[in-house]
Amino acid sequence: MASSYRIATIMGIPIRVHVTFLLILPVFAVVFAINPSLFGDIQPAWLSYALGGVLAVVFFFCVLLHELGHSYVALRNDIQIKSITLIIFGGVSQMEEVPRDSRVEMLMALAGPAISLVIGVTLIAVYLLLGFSTVPLPGESVPVSGRVIGWLGLINVLLAAFNLIPAFPMDGGRVLRSLLSRRLPYLDATSRAASLGKAFAFMLGLFGFLTLPGGLWLILIAFFIYLGAGQEEVGTRVSFTLEGVDVARIMTREVTTVGPETELDEVVELMLERKHTGYPVLSNGRLVGIITLDDVHSVPRERRNRTTVEGAMSTELVTATPDTPAFDALKVMSRRGFGRLPVVENGELVGIISRTDLTRALEILGE
Ligand SMILES: [Zn+2]
Repeated sequence: MASSYRIATIMGIPIRVHVTFLLILPVFAVVFAINPSLFGDIQPAWLSYALGGVLAVVFFFCVLLHELGHSYVALRNDIQIKSITLIIFGGVSQMEEVPRDSRVEMLMALAGPAISLVIGVTLIAVYLLLGFSTVPLPGESVPVSGRVIGWLGLINVLLAAFNLIPAFPMDGGRVLRSLLSRRLPYLDATSRAASLGKAFAFMLGLFGFLTLPGGLWLILIAFFIYLGAGQEEVGTRVSFTLEGVDVARIMTREVTTVGPETELDEVVELMLERKHTGYPVLSNGRLVGIITLDDVHSVPRERRNRTTVEGAMSTELVTATPDTPAFDALKVMSRRGFGRLPVVENGELVGIISRTDLTRALEILGE
């Protein structure tokens, strides 16, 4: 199941929305609609919800501009951005690689909050220039246009401030790593920024817990920050360790294959004997599919002696070549949920790379 959907392409970068974002958008719309200092007093009620919906979309458009700020600096420094995904607490830019140049990393990290700050300060300036004195408070009679400008300005300033918290996965975490990496090894700098992110998530979650039920969304955000901090650390460690390693160096060359006419019972015996749970399927020397334990399990036990590999194998083939970077192979496997990839060169099967191969390589090459 896809967890995110592509909605547009800007500066050549696919813009995606994550399912959590689709869930949070209506929540924001309702929060805006019933907020007494925003649209809470507007009649009829459907109009307040419509305005809430529009403001929620505009707000996330501001989040997108923030991400495009990161992307712009990245592209100017020849760093490819694979996609931008809008998730529950903002946006995530997926980079091809993490900039190792600490100056570039810092500029890139600061560009997003800078955009948010510029939008926020501009809107607040407009708000004040229009003659509204303070940010609208409940009971104050500020026209709807003023409330929207004032709140949007405030939210963007808060977005900049939140992202500058010096902990992963916030932008401030990257700024911190870039500063730390001038004195510390890169991986240690990453660990520190990630630990701070986890500590921050823990505190935020605790605060959310103490302020239940309103704090529920804080707990949710804390959960995502905790996961994000961990992923950032593991991801950096893995990409660092696998740098310059290609598939050919760690793949298994002696591949056991099966034919399309092999019975599933035989495949089960093969799995017990060889301890591998997936085999490429060759027909006349050509790779036609892959049969895994999951495929075998999808056939009821009593039918396995009458079913051949052809009737159960996956024909959707995702392969690697010997010169595919090992880290890319790992990313494909985790994204698609595959345990192994056949390695093909000039149309011929030359090896297989599994998660086990990668885990072992990480153990051997890591610190
Ligand atoms: Zn950012």
